[in-house]
Parts: sequence; C-alpha cells; structure tokens
Amino acid sequence: MAPQTAPGPDRPLLDISGLKTHFDTPEGTVRAVDGVSFTVPRGKTVCVVGESGCGKSVTARSVLGLVEEPGRIVAGSIRFAGEAGDEPVDLAALDPRGTQIRAVRGGRIGMVFQEPMAALSPLYTIGDQLVEAIRLHLPLTREAARTRAVGLLKRVGIPAADKRIDAYSFQMSGGMCQRAMIAIALACDPALLIADEPTTALDVTTQARILDLLADIQADTGTSVLFITHDLGVVAEIADEVVVMYLGTVVEQGPVDAVFHDPKHPYTRALLGSVPRMGAGARQRLATIRGHVPHPSERPDGCPFHPRCDSAVAGVCDTAQPPETALPERQRVRCVLYGDTPAAPAAATVEGAQS
Ligand code: SF4
Repeated sequence: MAPQTAPGPDRPLLDISGLKTHFDTPEGTVRAVDGVSFTVPRGKTVCVVGESGCGKSVTARSVLGLVEEPGRIVAGSIRFAGEAGDEPVDLAALDPRGTQIRAVRGGRIGMVFQEPMAALSPLYTIGDQLVEAIRLHLPLTREAARTRAVGLLKRVGIPAADKRIDAYSFQMSGGMCQRAMIAIALACDPALLIADEPTTALDVTTQARILDLLADIQADTGTSVLFITHDLGVVAEIADEVVVMYLGTVVEQGPVDAVFHDPKHPYTRALLGSVPRMGAGARQRLATIRGHVPHPSERPDGCPFHPRCDSAVAGVCDTAQPPETALPERQRVRCVLYGDTPAAPAAATVEGAQS
C-alpha cells in the first residue's frame, strides 16, 4: 500500500511507488529493491535507514538513473515534480542515459556521495568542476559561472574561496572536499538534494559541521533532502521523516518523533535498541540483532526479517509477505503484529527464530 499523495500544489516533491530494481546475474535475479514506496515532502528531510545490504543506496541511485548494469528498474514509478504546480515526471520511465534524466540529475536534483575524494577528479581544479556543473545546466558565461562558483564555495564555508577555487581535491582535507561536493550539488539550486552516507567517511567533528551546513542550507533555500544513512544518531538530528528498509522493502515509515518514540516493527525496535544512550553508564549492555542481513538472492520466504525476529509467528511470518498497515501519527508498518490480522495476538515462534 503506497502512501496517499495529494494533487496540485500539495503534491510531494518526490513520490516513489512500488519501485523494484533488480539485477539479472548468472546466478539468478537479485531483487535489491523490491516494492519500495515513500514520499519526500517539499522542504523536508527524509532519512532512509537500515543495515548495509538493505537496498538504501540502490533506491537513491534508482531515483538518479545511476543504477549500474546489470541492474534495472523493472516496476514502479518515481514521480518528481520540481515545482509545486508542475505535472510530475516519472524518472523511472526515462532512459537512464538520455538527455531528460541528465537535465534533472545535477540540475533539479543534486547529489552528494560518501567518498568526496573519489567523487572529485584529481585532474581538474575544484573551480573547473564547479564551473562545468553550473554551465551544464545554466546559460552563463565562464566568467559569470566562476563568480557563482566562488559564491557557492563561500556558502558552504570554504575559507578564502576566491583562492581555494583553484585548488585540486588532493590539496584539501576530506571535510573541505565534502563541502566542495555540496557546492557542486547546489550549483543549480536543486529542489532535491540526495545525500548517500555523506558523513560516514569523516571524523565526528567534521561530520557535525557538515550536518549543520546541510541544515542551514535547507533552512535558507527550502531544498528537500533525501538522506541515506545507517547512523540513527544522524537521523535523530536531521530527519523530519524516517523510512526504515530491510532487504529491499520498507518495513516502517513515519514522522521521526513517532517512529523513534514508539517504534512498531521488530527490526526498527532492534535497530534503536542497539544505539548507545547518553547517561546509561559505561557498562550499559547494547542489544544486538541476531544473525545478519542475507544476500538479496537468498531472501527468505514470507517476511524477510523472520529468521532474525524474536516475535515471529510460526506458519504465518515464514509463508507470506505481511501487508502494510497504516497507524495513527502517519506511521506505517509492515508486520503481522499490527492491523486486521488473525496472527497479531499469536505468540508462537517460527522454527529456528530463537536459535
Ligand atoms: Fe517479525 Fe513476523 Fe512482524 Fe516479520 S511479520 S517482523 S517476522 S512478527
């Protein structure tokens, strides 16, 4: 069940519905993203969380048309309306190498990735790369683009921007490179910024500064942010809405306050239980989630979380994928313990779930 979307000006900026991105390999089809639905409202930050291998990054890359071969979108839609009154464009239906998606990517949608050193070319100065990004989408002379580039570097907090613009990435720290990447992502005033683990490779002080910068930019410009992370501390700090993914599906979503204060899905509860809490004492025992995320090609039948779930219901959770249930506070959960299901009160355990 996809979230309800409003028409016209109240339409969300991004509306992902039933998205499936699969990889055809010699060993079989890998269902990396398998029926994902959520929206990104205008001016809000939506965080997608989950362990490695849950399909977060493939979801982000699907939006950008950057899924690497042999991956391809096989079902669903990604409706993007850059302006409030625009008719949405289905990005999933565009040729990933065509001019239409390239006009959106880097123009109306900016991107920031985990490894700024890898994303920036060592062969060109920061300024060259910024000017190129600007002129790809805006009809500016090289001189005007350079002036805009200096302004963008100042905006992201790079000191002596008029000099640093002629530096190469290897002459700058990791934090400064990530600021430069954010400047490139903002080059054309995007309506949506997609940030895939943008602070994971940075030390905690630099991470905090980059998060503050993203929050400032959003407050100033109203840009929506789709933030991919495995770090629930980051989610607590920046998210308006949170989407919890497990093995290519969304298991819970809703406003961050509701999901964090009253998590419903056993996987969300387990994730939150594994986060250290301030003031809990040095000897606090952290919960761990039994087992590990299986490879998507080894997806179990039924609820994909059932081999790791302490609440699994024998004969139910291992046979059919649970439906999504809408709860108060705009929370949605995909688990048989909620909603109109006869399995909800059962306490039986799937064989092997407790081992
Ligand atoms: Fe656990 Fe069953 Fe809910 Fe899946 S559907 S999370 S196995 S209780």
